[in-house]
Amino acid sequence: RAKERGRGRVELFDEALRAQLSAHAEMETALAAGLAGGEFEVHYQPVLDLNSGRLDGFEALVRWNRPGVGLVPPNDFIPVAESSKLICDLDRWVLHEATRQVAEWRAADPAAAGLTVAVNVSGRHLADPRVVRDVTEALLASGLPPELLIVEVTETVLVNEPAAYGHLVALRELGVAVAIDDFGTGYTSIGQLSGMPVDTLKIDRSFISSGTSGHAELVALVISAAHTFGLTVIAEGVEEESQLQWLREQRCDFAQGYLLSRPLPAAAAGDAWRAALAPTS
Ligand code: C2E
Ligand code: MG
Ligand code: MG
Ligand code: MG
Repeated sequence: RAKERGRGRVELFDEALRAQLSAHAEMETALAAGLAGGEFEVHYQPVLDLNSGRLDGFEALVRWNRPGVGLVPPNDFIPVAESSKLICDLDRWVLHEATRQVAEWRAADPAAAGLTVAVNVSGRHLADPRVVRDVTEALLASGLPPELLIVEVTETVLVNEPAAYGHLVALRELGVAVAIDDFGTGYTSIGQLSGMPVDTLKIDRSFISSGTSGHAELVALVISAAHTFGLTVIAEGVEEESQLQWLREQRCDFAQGYLLSRPLPAAAAGDAWRAALAPTS
């Protein structure tokens, strides 16, 4: 009898696993179809330059406008895309769309000439030699100056993907800047990063958010150490005025977060930079 019960449990486990695998496969198919069918869009979250007090540019964040479902946030589908080559197609599409959009804004108004755009590139894509060609092609197709593009990668990529290093070197030779996203969530030290092809650290939201004031000293240290090594710093997830004020006092270079703005659809982001960069007087 015990044996029978054991078998039952194995069957249940099998079923759960099978259901999970088929949900995964289903989403993979839907993602591929959605990419071909134009179901993705890019939202843009403003990044504030704390030194000038002006808008620096935007981070491009992908959304899936899934028919019958609505806007699906990236955390719900990026992991599935990352389990296959699909992530490279998706990242490539975002690269093209975001550079095209910002180039269009620049062409429409000289006030937008300096707007930067940051695009997230997954580890799998960064490990693929095609990444350099993809970025080059997006720049050529859009006409966006390379200096206005920032590629965001996570610190684990530098550790886990030996090929990534050379690709980042090549990207920087193009003039593109490299930012380490979610800094602090991995095990990389700033000292290690100083020898890396990296320009900017984005301090993860979990170190900035309220209720974690114990992190303040750590964040202050990261900012000053980063500056010592010639890196600039962006604080992610700034939600309160007091955090912004504190970050200014610590000479943090850039800030991003709901306090300043949520990620916006392209049209609203256009309105946002026009309002922010309108000539005064
Ligand atoms: P990320 O690159 O660290 O992007 C920042 C995330 O934090 C965004 O979530 C943004 O909406 C959210 N955020 C910004 N400010 C605040 C704040 O003040 N409070 C809170 N609670 N959240 C804030 P989102 O758009 O859902 O993206 C999640 C992640 O998905 C991104 O994290 C990035 O890792 C990934 N992702 C997004 N777009 C792409 C893409 O085109 N390609 C790849 N490979 N990954 C992407
Ligand atoms: Mg990012
Ligand atoms: Mg981040
Ligand atoms: Mg993140």
